[in-house]
Amino acid sequence: MTERAALALDLGGTNVRVVAVTESGDILARQHSSTGRRTSGEVYDEIARLAKACREEAGDVEFAAFGAAIPTTELDDGGVLGSLPNIPQLAGTNIKEELGRRLNLEVVPVNDASAATLGEYWLGASKGTRNVVGITLGTGVGGGLIVDSRLYVGVAGGAGEIGHITIVSGGEACGCGRRGCLEQYCSATAIVRQAKERGLQVTTSEAVFDLAEAGDPEAKAIFAQMGSSLGFGLAIINNLLSPDIFVVGGGVANGWAQFFEPVTAALIENSLPDRGSRVKIVRALLGDDAGVLGAAKYTFQQL
Ligand SMILES: [Zn+2]
Repeated sequence: MTERAALALDLGGTNVRVVAVTESGDILARQHSSTGRRTSGEVYDEIARLAKACREEAGDVEFAAFGAAIPTTELDDGGVLGSLPNIPQLAGTNIKEELGRRLNLEVVPVNDASAATLGEYWLGASKGTRNVVGITLGTGVGGGLIVDSRLYVGVAGGAGEIGHITIVSGGEACGCGRRGCLEQYCSATAIVRQAKERGLQVTTSEAVFDLAEAGDPEAKAIFAQMGSSLGFGLAIINNLLSPDIFVVGGGVANGWAQFFEPVTAALIENSLPDRGSRVKIVRALLGDDAGVLGAAKYTFQQL
């Protein structure tokens, strides 16, 4: 085999996924398990175990490096991780050293939502465009930016924190320590909180979506408000960056049918004239593969 290949990780608070992928995007092997209640050393051991299993499954392939999509807001150049709200035990650990030592490969870390945005740009919903804003609507809200066909990561990999754009001055308290962040109005957590405030007996955003699809007026109002809040936030980004396309992924994107119209209306209403209707807004296509594919692509670009 002459084509280069990489191993790539997508580490979440619940699941850890590792794949072996070629430079043209073919996935040669996949492994996953649960992040679970592990110490930082055990998390790294588990990632290494999955990586070794991928190596064996892929057969006679040379791996150039290990790309790692990590849910952290800060990554210093040396590999030390900043805060990780969903995997706090890894904060302050050095991912390049920990995994490099276990795998004997160079490790290239990248923020998980940035990786998902690059994955969709490489092989998914925004393929063939130049300027992309990715939004991941999950437990929290993440984001990523492609500017002039390159992933823009900013200082310490911290770019794209769309979830912490302030959309309501003095609004709901956020896990980041501030108030009124977009995440508090558009995440799965926010949808469930609002449903409970309206007296609905639900524990997941999927359940709220199902109620909305069945015609429940309270559930429909929650998605209408969520779409409107998201469109307001996207209009801020649209006025600043004027991208070709917004790509919306993550679990809450499954509620698309309930929020597409209000998000589009708010995006148009709050963008500069013509700019809101010009920009495309679409759903992500790659599902759980976006993060690992983006981490691999970013790694190939760095080598
Ligand atoms: Zn925040």
